[in-house]
Amino acid sequence: MSDRLRPLDALSGDALRGLEGVVFDVDDTLTRGGLLEPEAFVAMHSLANAGLRLWAVTGRPLGWAQVFAAQWPVRGAVGENGAGWWWREGEALHRGYFEGDEATRETQRRALERVLHRVRNELPGMKLASDRAGRSHDLAYDVGEAEHVPRAEVDRLVALIESEGCHALVSSVHCHAVPGDWDKAQGAERALGARDGVSPANVRERYLFVGDSPNDAAAFAHFPLSVGVANVRAHLGRLPTAPAYVTEADRGRGFAELAERILEAR
Ligand SMILES: [Mg+2]
Repeated sequence: MSDRLRPLDALSGDALRGLEGVVFDVDDTLTRGGLLEPEAFVAMHSLANAGLRLWAVTGRPLGWAQVFAAQWPVRGAVGENGAGWWWREGEALHRGYFEGDEATRETQRRALERVLHRVRNELPGMKLASDRAGRSHDLAYDVGEAEHVPRAEVDRLVALIESEGCHALVSSVHCHAVPGDWDKAQGAERALGARDGVSPANVRERYLFVGDSPNDAAAFAHFPLSVGVANVRAHLGRLPTAPAYVTEADRGRGFAELAERILEAR
């Protein structure tokens, strides 16, 4: 699959000049070892100053998306792999959910309780992610953040989650149980529509997505302009859809490389 990845140089200047914004993953796309890289933070400001609309789209809790929306130079932030989003307008912060209906959200919470109970009994070594306090719509198990869970165990967890009717999403750090039909691509589409009235077609055509791992696969498939930072290569075996382009540098430095290419083209 890796030979299908094209270098950033192959990205057409015309496509980049027509961009309205950039949608990006956070962990291991902007961060290294959990910390936001300085190059990536500067790159976000440079892109925003050039008039691009930035959206963070992360598997992290909605509570973290609220902080990203409040403190970063972004238009908004989508959390929990598309379950909801926050944006800032002036001093005020606004929130939206993929599932607008409270009864549906309650049914989904019960599915998560079943997963929680079964994992406790059947995979007792599995630990919930340390960011669980900010989560409202999914469960996240730590498979690669503080813990290093072997792939075979992650596969068992995925099978258990799916047997309870939830989707399983694996990132570089977590394995998520997702009780609804959202993913990063659909969450981003809804959020951009809610915030700025961007049509789904415009999201696909005028926004670029950059990420690094399997929970980004839906977005790699959705956005014709999709980019992986170099560390995406480690996950290619588990990606149903690879990004179209790849940076030379990894993590936040790869994001900065992409930002430079975008700004150069404008
Ligand atoms: Mg990531």
